[in-house]
Amino acid sequence: MVNISFLGSCREVGRSAILIESSKGDKCLLDYGVRFSEKSRMPVQVDLSNLKACALTHCHIDHSGALPFLYKKHKRLPFFTNALTLEIVDKLINDMLKVTSYPYPFGKAEINSLKENSVLLDVGVKQKIADDFFITFYNAGHVPGSVSILVEVDGKRILYTGDINTNPTNLINSANPKNIPKIDCAIIESTYALRDHSPRIETEKAFTEEVINITDNGGRVLIPAFSVARSQEVFMILEKFNYKKPLFLDGMATLISKIYLDHPYSLQDRNLYRKALSKVNFVNRRRKRAKAKNTNGTIISPSGMVKGGSVLNYIKSFLKDPTSAIFLVGYQVEGTPGRGLLDNNIFKFKEKNEHRKTDYNYNIKAKCKVASYDFSSHSDGKGLHNYVEELNFTDNAKEIFCVHGDNKATTTFAGELADKGYTSVAPESGEVYRI
Ligand SMILES: [Zn+2]
Ligand SMILES: [Zn+2]
Repeated sequence: MVNISFLGSCREVGRSAILIESSKGDKCLLDYGVRFSEKSRMPVQVDLSNLKACALTHCHIDHSGALPFLYKKHKRLPFFTNALTLEIVDKLINDMLKVTSYPYPFGKAEINSLKENSVLLDVGVKQKIADDFFITFYNAGHVPGSVSILVEVDGKRILYTGDINTNPTNLINSANPKNIPKIDCAIIESTYALRDHSPRIETEKAFTEEVINITDNGGRVLIPAFSVARSQEVFMILEKFNYKKPLFLDGMATLISKIYLDHPYSLQDRNLYRKALSKVNFVNRRRKRAKAKNTNGTIISPSGMVKGGSVLNYIKSFLKDPTSAIFLVGYQVEGTPGRGLLDNNIFKFKEKNEHRKTDYNYNIKAKCKVASYDFSSHSDGKGLHNYVEELNFTDNAKEIFCVHGDNKATTTFAGELADKGYTSVAPESGEVYRI
């Protein structure tokens, strides 16, 4: 028998962490992330003796952010990842510690241990981690470098999808479940299980037309975007549909954009990427920031949910300007300033950080245009159902665990799959299932 412990991402988006334990008691962690706004940000704490390895699906901190904590106790724990993900994880976790006032229980020394123990694993290569215990990576289509993880243990095959996208984006190719061998059990993400994305190409066109329209009329467009993948996807879309006005990129997104250039094999259209990036003005100093703010053009700047990051340098000026626009291009978690701006047209943000010498207290009604465009890098409901149908299950076992979505998304998705004959459930944090 194999035990699967759900240490996070249960009926929530955040702190993804799945523990697989063999009948001999050997353990492997799949992801070990943090969550964003709650007081307790770490995964559920359990006995991790006999932990043989940790493996990471992708760089986002809701999957990777707590990994360094493991190195407080497990000094020589192998960490399976790939070169691109490793490079970005290093930047994101360091940045997470820099910008937060939350007392994460680890620091630079543990981040260094994580890096020192990294083992690079290519897609499709079966890696032994203990007796009768193997992992294999498969492309997940979510962000460059992202993978799903197949675990083979005690004669069982368990697929952990991580975050998946079954539609190609401008940056990367989509996930293909047909590449994955027969499985007994799947742990699948559910972020957009209850939504259907509008056709991508139409959204891309409508978005670029609107950006061109506003800037042609003398306005400015501010695009808060995740520094990883979304900022790059947005400048590729603007290039594809002939946006010609000045384009600025600020914050961590500039660094990530350069890292992608060093890993061109992970991009599906490296020529479009290079061409688009060559037209982007990188903003890294205060003077350049002032210039970007006062230019009739477009600024892409993290953070994607406007809860920090370089976008705070611009937001006030845009909110008060009726000729300009703020376009949100990513998932806005409930309770974040971005979600509030979208739902109520009011931007509320309060943060006092002595370390960074910042003291924000914003409560501003937007006079500018505010809209959201769905450039999701997650599969929608239809995509998730198709993905499951294309998976190849062993005859009698069709066990599915729905994670990484809010309460409604995970439980409804599990119910829909149960109606189709799967044994499906939306586990709760801390629950252990035996398969
Ligand atoms: Zn992700
Ligand atoms: Zn995620």
